[in-house]
Amino acid sequence: MDSAKLATRYLETRRRQPTTPMKAMANKVVSRYLTAKKAPFNTEYIKLLRKEFLTLMKNAKVIKDYKHAMAWREVMVHWRERFDDLVYTRLVEVIGNLPLQYEWVSRDEAKKWEKYVQTETWDLHINLSIPISRTDDYWSEGARFSQFQTDLKKWDGRVRRASRKAWKALEGFVSWYRHTTSHEPFIDAPSSEQVNLEGFQVLVKDYNGSDMAVEALGRFKQSLKNYKKRAQAVLPLLLQQQLPMAFDYKKGLSTAGEYRGRYIDINPKASYTESVDKMTKTIAHEMGHHLWRTSLSGEARQFWEKLIYGNYGKLDLRDVLKRYGSERSFSDNDRIRREDPILYLQIDGLYTSYKHVFLDGGAILSMDDLREYLEEGGQAIWSVHGKPITGYAHKNPEEAFCEVIGMLVAYGPRAVLPEVRSWIRVVLPQIKVAKKYGYGPQTALPEFRYLKEAHGDC
Ligand SMILES: [Zn+2]
Repeated sequence: MDSAKLATRYLETRRRQPTTPMKAMANKVVSRYLTAKKAPFNTEYIKLLRKEFLTLMKNAKVIKDYKHAMAWREVMVHWRERFDDLVYTRLVEVIGNLPLQYEWVSRDEAKKWEKYVQTETWDLHINLSIPISRTDDYWSEGARFSQFQTDLKKWDGRVRRASRKAWKALEGFVSWYRHTTSHEPFIDAPSSEQVNLEGFQVLVKDYNGSDMAVEALGRFKQSLKNYKKRAQAVLPLLLQQQLPMAFDYKKGLSTAGEYRGRYIDINPKASYTESVDKMTKTIAHEMGHHLWRTSLSGEARQFWEKLIYGNYGKLDLRDVLKRYGSERSFSDNDRIRREDPILYLQIDGLYTSYKHVFLDGGAILSMDDLREYLEEGGQAIWSVHGKPITGYAHKNPEEAFCEVIGMLVAYGPRAVLPEVRSWIRVVLPQIKVAKKYGYGPQTALPEFRYLKEAHGDC
């Protein structure tokens, strides 16, 4: 799910202020109340951060091959997450609290510092991603690595320049803070606890015992129970290969779940708003990435890619307008969803595959937007999946694979088109998808109501 949507939904829930009673069940799970520990954020802290950063940067010089570069990239991603968490969550909290703690600090002044810290560190945040991508049909490991070696020098200079700007801003902030309050700023140190939920290893981070935190944990627990039952029935391999999970309350709003190689991140903020089925799908989807990377043979992956790309076809938006032009909305349209579910998923796919046209800037959301876009000479014919799985599955064959796993586990065989079910049986023979649901494009569609809440995920 894209971050803007997730953020809006989350904020809506917060506005509604649910008054759910504390659930003893979930609270027992995290038995110890985790009080936030405080750590001083001072020059020493920044020095340490800088030292870590420089050590990581030094690693670039000894990288010998593609695999090594990808491992380094993963370590940098983790460092960036911690940096983001520090600057964009914890420091924002500290600055936001200033006018409440000290009457001589105005809101405007606090806002000014917040903006300053964020702007000056933004370059570092942006540039921290290592200039290497995964291999694909066109780029072999060798090709990716040699491109990486070419790009590395420029990147190194850029990220170091950005880092100097960031340290300077953070030091400036610390010194202003001390001058203004005669104290050092304190930030919440992350606290975490390893728990066993329904037989799964889960690292719960920054649980604070609030009603919302309890509710999120309760729903996650239910989802795990459901996932276990459904995975056992559909694809026990998922449970055999099961990765530990992290449930981090300080996580931003970017994604509902994320595959991290050695573990899976599940976002508690997603469970504030999402159903047990939807969360079940997220867990299965992320485990799908794990199977894709570790259990599928190269041939199986290639075969799947061929099937996905080989089934792309043309969608003419003028036809959509001819047929549904009297409707108000182009995206999220209930009539199209009901009468033409395949078209509905293809339209949804446009938002994933061609985000720059359909979502960013002049978003095409209503039929009027679409009409205007076509009248102004916008591209009418687009390439979309002929046997769509979900909108998000249009992103690439790997995501398509994960979406199939997610849909089959969470919603059953009827939520996936029969052709796609037959493909998945070829690449993953262990999967138990009964043939009795038959063939023909209509079979999956009566259950389309399930797709309604299931499309769109990471
Ligand atoms: Zn994914």
